[in-house]
Amino acid sequence: MRSPVQEYLESIVDQCRSTDGEVASYIPELADADPDRFALALATVDGHVYTVGDADARYSIQSISKPFTYALALSDQGTEAVDAKVDVEPSGDAFNEISLASDTGRPRNAMINAGAITAASLVAGDSGEPRFERVLEWYGSFAGRDLEVDEDVYSSELATAHRNRAIAHMLREFQILEGDPEESLAQYVRQCAISVDTRDLALMAATLANGGVQPVTGTRVLETTSVERVLSVMATCGMYDSAGDWISAVGMPAKSGVSGGIIAVLPGQVGLAVFSPRLDSHGNSARGVELCERMSRDMEMHLMHVGRSSNTAVRNRYPLSQVASRRRRPDADQAVLDEHAGRSVVYELHGDLLFAGAEHVVRAVVEDAPELAVVDVRRVDDVADVARVALRGLRSMLREAGSEAAVVDPHGVLHDPDAGTEHASPFFEDRDSAVRWCEDELLRRHGDGPADERAHVDDHPLLRGLSPDARRVIDDAMEHLTFTDDELVLEAGAPFAGVHVVVSGTAVATVEGPNGDRTHAVAMNPGTSFGELALGADDVQETSIHADGDLTLLRLSAESIDRITADQPQVAVEMWRAMARDGYRMADRALRSGVERG
Ligand code: GLN
Repeated sequence: MRSPVQEYLESIVDQCRSTDGEVASYIPELADADPDRFALALATVDGHVYTVGDADARYSIQSISKPFTYALALSDQGTEAVDAKVDVEPSGDAFNEISLASDTGRPRNAMINAGAITAASLVAGDSGEPRFERVLEWYGSFAGRDLEVDEDVYSSELATAHRNRAIAHMLREFQILEGDPEESLAQYVRQCAISVDTRDLALMAATLANGGVQPVTGTRVLETTSVERVLSVMATCGMYDSAGDWISAVGMPAKSGVSGGIIAVLPGQVGLAVFSPRLDSHGNSARGVELCERMSRDMEMHLMHVGRSSNTAVRNRYPLSQVASRRRRPDADQAVLDEHAGRSVVYELHGDLLFAGAEHVVRAVVEDAPELAVVDVRRVDDVADVARVALRGLRSMLREAGSEAAVVDPHGVLHDPDAGTEHASPFFEDRDSAVRWCEDELLRRHGDGPADERAHVDDHPLLRGLSPDARRVIDDAMEHLTFTDDELVLEAGAPFAGVHVVVSGTAVATVEGPNGDRTHAVAMNPGTSFGELALGADDVQETSIHADGDLTLLRLSAESIDRITADQPQVAVEMWRAMARDGYRMADRALRSGVERG
């Protein structure tokens, strides 16, 4: 199937067929270029390359080399040392202007020849061949293949490089170059003669778009801080004396070369390369500029284009009272939660958390001032460092206000820098566990703590309403059972086995999925009971019950119930009444919260 992106790129190439401009001729070897050759390549940051036209045809890279050598100088010497030699100010000059900034005495930037020759001199390594080998290898790591020099272009340019030679000697005179100016000149002219095709250039651009990691090989070539620096200089100076026009009309950091190439970088998205040898009066490919303007407009590639505002980080926000955890709570605990859970809030976040997204979250939480918060980041794709810092700040503010955020982050997108320390937020694999944690915390704050921190069999609705006589009979009939972690207590499908009162620990009811996987449905703690629901389901146990950790139960078995019903009808009536009351109580709560409490 043909890709619509490919179709679009072909159609745009067809529409930009202007034959304005002249092939560069001051370098004799370039004058022979076929003026009508045309190629376009677009490389995505995940390494897919679309090409149109003659994308494999080779030509010398020329000034498109400048950002890459500048990058190597930055990476070899550090920003400060490079800044001491070359400024980052747009010059508005032609690329080969013989000038230094009058105030600083340094070349204005590394995209014009004076700055580029200086950057070439800052590449580390023994002068001559070894240093150039590093340059060649460096470019190759951006392109993702080994590159070579077009020796004809090199010697042709070196023999006629009077202007660049003048620039190099001027640089030496002002001690911007410290070594032999001829050597820096040769190094620079040689880097300009490195032979590339349009696909190479698109991948080199995409490496910058990808924050310095080559999209196909996956190798980190350049540190992100240097990428930012290089792209900034490209944006302000890459198109020489038409840099202002370019950034307004196209809006991407770019670099052109006199052989007819242009690269443009859309950070985070694509690297673009066009090749067409006819140049406009600024020395930029005429058709290349036209095509980039069209693409930027059609495909909304302008960096200043506001696509969507990032104010949607909080996709959902509701009080904790709307999401009772699946834990069955005894009445007293439920009453505490009914009263207090409305002042705690669940925040569901999504998308990429950059500065604006994090700000939105922080503002929502500050506005609510929740007693406790659940921050659910399961749908968050990526978190910028600035967002991490903001969320950490939010956590301190919450703590100062006596609050705490339970974080639901099963994929670890937040990378809490405090993980494993006492400062870390409580982290949970799923929302229910976080909600449960908040409920327990509310019970500690406003009640006697969650039921599993107490033992209150006597409080159990099945037992507490019984007369002392009936209670004695039932107590005698109940068996004391213990289970260890994960042990099966009741199996789904088994006949009604009796009523089980949790004395200590936790029992979990699970439903078997179609693939035999267990879905955790309800957790039951002291103060609750299970097994009796089978009475409402043709006497069949519908869920499997396992121990979650050590578990102690009191069981009034089906046989005991039958025996009491036959032998002591008085006790039986009390017992059944208590069971019915408990059943209605659960049904009522389920109806009110709208949450199924299996
Ligand atoms: N090697 C060429 C020069 O210095 C590069 C110029 C360019 O591509 N703009 O003149």
